[in-house]
Amino acid sequence: MKKALVCGAGGFIGSHLVKRLKREGYWVRGVDLKYPEFSETEADDFVIGDLRDPYFCRSIVDTKFDEVYQLAADMGGAGYVFTGDNDADIMHNSALINLNMLDACYRRNIKRIFYSSSACIYPKYNQEDPNNPKCSEDSAYPAAPDSEYGWEKLFSERLYLAYHRNYGMEVRIARYHNIFGPEGTWIGGREKAPAALCRKVATAILKGEDYIEVWGDGKQTRSFLYIDECIEGTLRLMRSNWTGPVNIGSEEMVTIDQLAEMIMNIAGKKLKIVHVPGPQGVRGRNSDNRLIKEKLGWAPSMPLKEGLKITYKWVEEQVKKSLGIR
Ligand code: NAD
Repeated sequence: MKKALVCGAGGFIGSHLVKRLKREGYWVRGVDLKYPEFSETEADDFVIGDLRDPYFCRSIVDTKFDEVYQLAADMGGAGYVFTGDNDADIMHNSALINLNMLDACYRRNIKRIFYSSSACIYPKYNQEDPNNPKCSEDSAYPAAPDSEYGWEKLFSERLYLAYHRNYGMEVRIARYHNIFGPEGTWIGGREKAPAALCRKVATAILKGEDYIEVWGDGKQTRSFLYIDECIEGTLRLMRSNWTGPVNIGSEEMVTIDQLAEMIMNIAGKKLKIVHVPGPQGVRGRNSDNRLIKEKLGWAPSMPLKEGLKITYKWVEEQVKKSLGIR
């Protein structure tokens, strides 16, 4: 039986990845500071602990895993990453996790390790035009990410690549672009735009309000990838013979106002959009899937609307529970 280690298994993507690996018959160990928030973990073994501690990292890599997935990071949505208030924690915590996990895997002679980087590594100067952002993999340098979160991801990409060059480790690096879906953070400041807007729409409807607030002018653009396709791309990359880095994202770019309108259509209610000041990140961002198609012969294809329908239903249930509505 193949064995996989998932770091960050209590988080959004990690908990979905554990489920998928279990369906494929793997023995899975999950590691995180916390258990998954919204459903029981399916991992065979789940270790609670802090990956900033090198001794803890060595203790969890105590057997020969066939696949190690390093997803743990101090992260969040725009409300956490772009205010600047959490920069020191974001850089310190995530860098330590990656330094420790790579060292622990190297000592244990683990061959294959996956690292989840981010579209946030791309330079700000290529993302000023909301209608024409550039995010091809080769445009990462000269580096100029717009957040310290992005700088840490870029540093860690280089760290993984260095272990590949110097020690022959088979690293696999993906740059995820805005992953969304059920069982993701939907409230509290770390949630991403799709979950936040689903919450705002559901809350307004349930409370009988006729508007929602959107950060910025609503003209900033993004693309959003449904969780199942993120996991599919991750496994395809992990099991390929290619290191990356590669974008794992959707090419269906929308403005934030369009995203809000799509959610209102799904909810069946038209609400006013009130634009308010708030952290926004870059003006435009979209995935560029030419390289993934060329190297893996695959790219995500699910329409945004389909993923939003599933996600809205789930967020709406959470809002109802929080408001005491059955
Ligand atoms: P998440 O916050 O839900 O999951 C990350 C998990 O890491 C959390 O459960 C957290 O408790 C855990 N963690 C943090 N510090 C830890 C520590 N010191 N020790 C042990 N565990 C620790 O985030 P996610 O959305 O599942 O993202 C997973 C990975 O993908 C992250 O590396 C993130 O940067 C990357 N990524 C995500 C997106 C996205 O849209 N979700 C986009 C780009 C990149």
